[in-house]
Amino acid sequence: GFCMDKGNSTIESRLSANGKTLLEKRYLLRDAEGKVAEEPGELFARVAKTIARVDSRYGYDVEKTEDDFYQVMADLEFLPNSPTLMNAGTELGQLSACFVLPVEDSLKSIFKSLQDMSLIHQSGGGTGFSFSNLRPKGDIVGSTNGVASGPLSFMTIFDKATDVIKQGGRRRGANMGVLRVDHPDIIEFIRAKEDEELLRNFNLSVGVTDEFMEAVSQDRDYALINPRTGKIEKRLKAKDVFDRIVTCACRTGDPGLLFLDEINRRHPLSTIGTIESTNPCGEVPLLPYESCNLGSINLAQMVKEGAIDWEKLKQTVHTGVHFLDNVIDANKYPLPQIGQRTKQNRKIGLGVMGFAAMLARLGIPYDCREGIATAEKVMKFTQDESVQKSVELGEQRGSFPNFHRSALARDYPAMRNATVNTVAPTGSLSIIANTTSGIEPMFALTYRRNVMGTRLTEIDPVFEEIARKHGFYSSQLMEEIAGTGSLQTSPNIPEQTRRIFATALEIQPRWHVRMQAAFQKHVDNAVAKTVNLPHEATVEDFREVYMLAYRLKCKGIAAYRYGSKAEQVLEIGNAG
Ligand code: ADP
Repeated sequence: GFCMDKGNSTIESRLSANGKTLLEKRYLLRDAEGKVAEEPGELFARVAKTIARVDSRYGYDVEKTEDDFYQVMADLEFLPNSPTLMNAGTELGQLSACFVLPVEDSLKSIFKSLQDMSLIHQSGGGTGFSFSNLRPKGDIVGSTNGVASGPLSFMTIFDKATDVIKQGGRRRGANMGVLRVDHPDIIEFIRAKEDEELLRNFNLSVGVTDEFMEAVSQDRDYALINPRTGKIEKRLKAKDVFDRIVTCACRTGDPGLLFLDEINRRHPLSTIGTIESTNPCGEVPLLPYESCNLGSINLAQMVKEGAIDWEKLKQTVHTGVHFLDNVIDANKYPLPQIGQRTKQNRKIGLGVMGFAAMLARLGIPYDCREGIATAEKVMKFTQDESVQKSVELGEQRGSFPNFHRSALARDYPAMRNATVNTVAPTGSLSIIANTTSGIEPMFALTYRRNVMGTRLTEIDPVFEEIARKHGFYSSQLMEEIAGTGSLQTSPNIPEQTRRIFATALEIQPRWHVRMQAAFQKHVDNAVAKTVNLPHEATVEDFREVYMLAYRLKCKGIAAYRYGSKAEQVLEIGNAG
């Protein structure tokens, strides 16, 4: 086993003040009186022990595994998703962040889903739903001769229930709501967030097909179909609907798009079912009742002397895949169906965070060919190594039960997991690991973050590190940029440095999309990314972003115009 004391003191020195605060507020176990009852090092030890124990079933050296798991977490090189950190080794024991639940066209099914959602939220998971199978508003209800109230009205119930549950005060619940573009209530769905009070716990995505996107390009109309009868209710001009989508997205940040055909083309389990929804932030397309557990490698830690440390990345990927596969067995599932479906396919989502920080350490700007090429190289390597490890686990422990029904059986002798990679937003994990979130550029060089009602002011740690290393750090400069969070107007900073520290809103929207597409090429699940646009962005900008995402074969797209919601997670500088 490892030496806890030594571990603890080095962990304490590695964590940032914000990281520590966050761990204390939401992750560290508490005693019966609600007092914090563990140290960060003990948290990682608890998680490592619980997840490594699974290895005893397969005859592995459990102590060695436990050591490896502990070390990658304690070094902030790899972190599993929040529910694993919070719940491993506890009675609750629910370890996954991502779920998709079915909603069929009956009251019984709708309220069953609502109940299932409540259990998932209570355990720290997020839920996605397709509401496309619900009969439209105004349709008949056979049993009562009444009138159906439609998907939107049911969604408000899910939203309200989410408010009430609040996940024990640690997380506000999160949902994805999807409606197919050919559902008769689509216009109401697109416009739902125009009322700021509505569906606040939902991200909304319109599920679009290739056929619809082609109809937009060729200015054709398309049919809206009642899912209950299969009959065409009316026809709309695709372009008008697309206009509505981008207009509302520009105004409110919703809806995004899900490219359903691309998702299902690339899904290795197409013989088993059709995917209609993703988890809340879009990075994991799932079949109904599937769950997925995620983990992220901190790429900023994979740089040695100004170059990528490929050997270390390889080792971390292998440890990460092993870890996440074990989570599937260690998990206590909120519903029996979810346990069954999840174990049939054993999907995991190993991804990355700290990509922008890695680029900064390598001296490469985000919005250029070299930035994109680096993304592809890193993710391709990560994917190849993930697959290799999953094949190895498949040979040792057995393939996932649906393996022979999957497209993977054509290419691999064995495979433990139906999917291996995902890029998560890492909203909380990146704070703990003290790095940039997911594959996002730095949001600002200085900013304030709203975390559960607490406002934290921060200087981006990588910016600070590089500024110190290159000798241009001064408290005067930091004060100078505190208001704008940007280096672009500082006269004494070299051009190349300014390019490396271009922030999210200074990067052209199309580079955001290209970066998402570069990662998506080598990710079998999906990629969470927010295309951040400046306050002045127009509907035309949104149109370009959404169209480009389709052309570049993204699985979905979400964009956000700065200041378009009254309450947002990230704020620049000390304004507001
Ligand atoms: P973290 O950094 O906490 O691990 P991410 O920001 O990477 O989480 O989000 C990953 C996924 O975790 C989301 O897509 C969603 O499924 C789930 N999730 C995130 N935040 C919440 C929340 N507040 N409530 C429920 N689920 C959440």
